[in-house]
Amino acid sequence: MADREKRPRDEDEPHSQPDDVEVEAEDHAPEELDAETRARRDAALRHVRKFGDPVLRARALPVERFDERLQQEAERMGELMHDALGVGLAATQLGVLHRMLVYKAFLDDELTVLVNPEIEWESEEREVAEEGCLSLPGVHVEVERAASLRVRGRDAAGAELEIEAEGLEARVIQHEIDHLDGTLVLDRISREARKEAMRAMREAQRTPSAA
Ligand code: ZN
Repeated sequence: MADREKRPRDEDEPHSQPDDVEVEAEDHAPEELDAETRARRDAALRHVRKFGDPVLRARALPVERFDERLQQEAERMGELMHDALGVGLAATQLGVLHRMLVYKAFLDDELTVLVNPEIEWESEEREVAEEGCLSLPGVHVEVERAASLRVRGRDAAGAELEIEAEGLEARVIQHEIDHLDGTLVLDRISREARKEAMRAMREAQRTPSAA
């Protein structure tokens, strides 16, 4: 999932717009990113598979080997996510069919690597907030998600993890698990909103710097 914040943000802030680098790009035009940050971001985004690539529709496979290579893969995902100014990234977005995701919902958080995630519980309470996606340049759409959840999985070394999350963190986890199942935010919105999103994506492709 895409990010738009350089600092932690209070989810309860009434006008907060969670999780979207595209939103940030609009609020503070991309020109305001310094040249080096922008160049690094563009370079990272070139590694991210974009809408239309069939791998984004594939279902990733459970990871069975927790070896050095997996840890290197997780590290690389963390670096690319960071450089792309994202808050989350799924392995499928790099064309790797591993059930692995990384995220960092807030700047001060550590990077979380989650392998073979299973949602054990999610709240009935739902929340609607805007999301962007590194694979869908220019798109930001309102998506309804469970407000909080508990997820179980492993880290890149194979140690068991149980995470309870709410707000933006819960949202990012759901967004990235969707990627592992070949689901995109476009599948979670109305037909009208999808049409609008497709238009925005075409627009962003015409003017790549605005993506
Ligand atoms: Zn995404």
